[in-house]
Amino acid sequence: MAKIHVIGGGLAGSEAAWQAAQAGVDVVLHEMRPVKPTDAHHTDGFAELVCSNSFRSDDHEHNAVGLLHEEMRRANSLIMACADKCALPAGGALAVDRDGFSQQVTEALEAHPRITIAREEVAGLPPAEWDNVIVATGPLTSPALAAAIQELTGEDSLAFFDAIAPIIHYDSIDLDIVWAQSRYDKPGPAGTGADYLNCPMTEAQYNALIDALLAAPLHEFKDWEIVPYFDGCLPIEVMAERGRETLRFGPMKPVGLTNPRDPETKPYAVIQLRQDNALGTLWNMVGFQTKMRYGVQTEIFRMIPGLENAQFARLGGLHRNTFLNSPKVLRPDLKLKADPRLRFAGQVTGVEGYVESAAMGLICGRLSAAEAKGETPALPPATTAFGALIAHITGGHIESESYSGARSFQPMNVNFGLFPPVEIKKPEGLKGRWRGPDKAKAKKKAVTTRALDDLAGWL
Ligand code: FAD
Repeated sequence: MAKIHVIGGGLAGSEAAWQAAQAGVDVVLHEMRPVKPTDAHHTDGFAELVCSNSFRSDDHEHNAVGLLHEEMRRANSLIMACADKCALPAGGALAVDRDGFSQQVTEALEAHPRITIAREEVAGLPPAEWDNVIVATGPLTSPALAAAIQELTGEDSLAFFDAIAPIIHYDSIDLDIVWAQSRYDKPGPAGTGADYLNCPMTEAQYNALIDALLAAPLHEFKDWEIVPYFDGCLPIEVMAERGRETLRFGPMKPVGLTNPRDPETKPYAVIQLRQDNALGTLWNMVGFQTKMRYGVQTEIFRMIPGLENAQFARLGGLHRNTFLNSPKVLRPDLKLKADPRLRFAGQVTGVEGYVESAAMGLICGRLSAAEAKGETPALPPATTAFGALIAHITGGHIESESYSGARSFQPMNVNFGLFPPVEIKKPEGLKGRWRGPDKAKAKKKAVTTRALDDLAGWL
């Protein structure tokens, strides 16, 4: 039986190696630290947490990342077992003692009879004799490997920064204020002419927004994290600094749009929301990439008419991050179309976060091990958190150009907007429309119950 080569011993690679070895396949785990360091890691331990020590909410009934924890536990995840052993008091969140956690993972991998550890950089495409490879080299993939992948897959297949516009849950947008229309009613190749949701602003509202943007505190970057600006993709606060009218002539230009509720009054500025996933549950704010701190983003964006109660699936950001244009270059089974020997796991696929990265490692380890044993592996159902993440990176995302022409696939944490919708029954005796926090909670519970039921069949 052919060996599996896992490149990268971070969150994803550690979990992938463990899953494959537990399935009875020999694994070589190639990790370049300490021979070659990265800008963010400080140790040579496996699964080092480079920043926060939190795995976020552990509520598997009402929180999407909590559900992912539970799915991973049920799939015998090494990362979750070590996290549980090293848990610290953190309310409803799962926070860990970072050194103890990495040490536990390292010891488990070193002690596994089917895992061989090679402390070396894989500085180009893997040699031809490696025919079952998992690439899990993360947001700081070494430049030599990144260049080789880019050469194989094409110029626009690998990004080195993410410039993320906020993404909003559809059911938190006020449909009594926004209206659906494409600029000049243009249908575009896949559209109807009513493809965008438009948030109208008066002059006073626009000026208040610009004042807030100019006063907003920015995320502080370390030297090596500093991201170059590309003129077509500037953060909104930088555009606001360049002149009070810049945004009105950029992503917020009001031309080609008529508010059907008030056709006589031309909006002074318009913010457009564009559908972000095939399910229509997530919408992104076109051209609104930003470096503002998270807390202040929520406050400022809720000043926009129609978004007063917006719930954000992800906030805007600008980071160093190496990731594939996965919807274009990966197959649904996470293999590279251009070279199916290579399967990709972790943050390099366009998921975001420790838990999501480890989850993708878990899936890849299982799929690759099944193949090594001559089996035909099945993908997890789309209704599970595992499946929802796979759909985001390989299929569910709508490929579109941003207003600046930049491609729009961007990394994302797991969230309920990635799951197929679920129908729930109104409580008996309730008169009128059911809305509010109770309904939202019941919907989340229905999604997580369905996910765990469907996961059982897959496991
Ligand atoms: P990593 O954990 O980075 O593992 C990749 C491994 O591959 C590394 O060990 C690296 O040394 C190795 N490697 C790279 N290239 C090669 C090569 N050519 N050959 C051999 N080995 C190689 N996520 C959160 O959830 N919370 C946070 O607070 C957070 N903060 C972050 C802060 C920074 C500065 C950065 C860069 C990322 C942060 N992230 C955070 C994202 C986090 O990095 C990922 O969620 C997670 O570590 C990704 O797991 P991974 O296995 O894909 O990559």
